[in-house]
Amino acid sequence: MQIAIIGAGVVGVTTAHALTRRGHRVTVIERLGAAGLETSRGNAGQRSYGYVYPWASPAMIKKALPWLVKPSGPLKMHLPPSPRTLRFLIATWRFANAPGLFETNKRAMLQLGAYSRQCFLELEESLAPSFDGQHAGLIDLASDAATAEGLKATSGLLDDLGITCQWLTPGELREAEPGLQGDAPLVGGLRIPGDGTGDCQRFTQALAAQCETLGVTFRYETEVVRVTRDKGRIRALSLVPSNGGGPAREGASESLEADAFVLCAGCRSRQLGEALGLDLPIYPVKGYSLTAPLLDPARAPRSTVIDDRYKVVATRLGDRLRATGFVELAEFDRNIPLSRLATIREAVESRFPGAADFEHADSWTGFRPMTPDGPPIIGQAKRDNLYLNTGHGTFGWTLSAASAELIGQLVDNDEPAVNLEAFRPGRFAR
Ligand SMILES: Cc1cc2nc3c(=O)[nH]c(=O)nc-3n(C[C@H](O)[C@H](O)[C@H](O)COP(=O)(O)OP(=O)(O)OC[C@H]3O[C@@H](n4cnc5c(N)ncnc54)[C@H](O)[C@@H]3O)c2cc1C
Repeated sequence: MQIAIIGAGVVGVTTAHALTRRGHRVTVIERLGAAGLETSRGNAGQRSYGYVYPWASPAMIKKALPWLVKPSGPLKMHLPPSPRTLRFLIATWRFANAPGLFETNKRAMLQLGAYSRQCFLELEESLAPSFDGQHAGLIDLASDAATAEGLKATSGLLDDLGITCQWLTPGELREAEPGLQGDAPLVGGLRIPGDGTGDCQRFTQALAAQCETLGVTFRYETEVVRVTRDKGRIRALSLVPSNGGGPAREGASESLEADAFVLCAGCRSRQLGEALGLDLPIYPVKGYSLTAPLLDPARAPRSTVIDDRYKVVATRLGDRLRATGFVELAEFDRNIPLSRLATIREAVESRFPGAADFEHADSWTGFRPMTPDGPPIIGQAKRDNLYLNTGHGTFGWTLSAASAELIGQLVDNDEPAVNLEAFRPGRFAR
């Protein structure tokens, strides 16, 4: 089959790889100049298969107000909120309060995570040296008793799903992470030893290069602006040269025909969804990262460590440390306030003093393609030659290997390896 994929982030490229290995002829359309330049560029680097959860959580709703008012709190919102921000918040509130939905979706996401781990282990063998990839585990720290209780409750669900985890005391945490020498409060932490890390952008670009050797065509600096339908099916995409990330250039458009299409356009999937008659209420949830050279590897995290006070994630990527933070509702505002970076730095230095050279750090901001309930959108749309692999929110790097394989299974009419009910594209239809 001839298949066109929209978007060359980590999700589009893993999808291209899965489809080409199944014998399909694949073309990937990307508006920017290379793969992995948008949200897949500077994320926290955690492949947290055992630490995935829905955005719409009753616990998050309870904490939202204190987090919003505290200057270093992890949740931020531009005031006054835009109509779209308000619609997203109302939908989130509704999903968070739907009885049992959080638990059902969390279980579904963890099952997808476990499958993604299996897919990654197969996929990364040929790429491992090129993206600082590891499977050395993840630790979620608790600085107070209430957080510790919450983490211990999560460990019950992980046990139930066969995902190995361990509760560690402060002494055991320092054995696992010798650099954890800061004097910030610490009562324990949950370790998920099978989780992974890696530089998502390097992975995406290395996999795109491998895809090219397998025959995939990448059309960079090319934007999909329209869709042509014929007898209820999609027949072609209208393409125009893009403008370095700005609005598409005027000019003659070109038509790209294919037998099937996969939408992997991250935060921009909503607009394309409208052109396709689909309701994809994906909102760009902003975050920030700092990537600093290590000062002293012995003082740095060995893998991924999450600080519960700031929700800052610190990850070792080879000889660098990547730290990310904040969940901000600000539409597509690309400003990087110094105060946000200062909070991220303070969080890491209070746990891992002397680990990284933040004076020489690169800063970045990006947008999580978030659905109002939280699970990504994976499946076949009502028009039978359109597939969706988008809305991956906070966990697109983690879940990409699984969701790509699942799209391959759907295209080939194979039984999906994971139940896709929680990820159904039609679940937002009004
Ligand atoms: C601060 C932060 C930290 C994060 N940390 C983690 C983490 O530790 N682990 C994890 O698993 N996830 C993490 N994430 C989330 C993860 O980065 C995303 O879920 C993932 O990158 C989404 O990938 P994607 O391919 O769907 O989107 P993108 O990487 O944004 O790719 C979509 C591509 O589609 C292209 N496109 C869009 N519209 C069109 C069009 N009309 N025509 C042509 N091309 C188009 C875009 O240019 C873009 O390149 C984090 C995100 C942020 C912001």
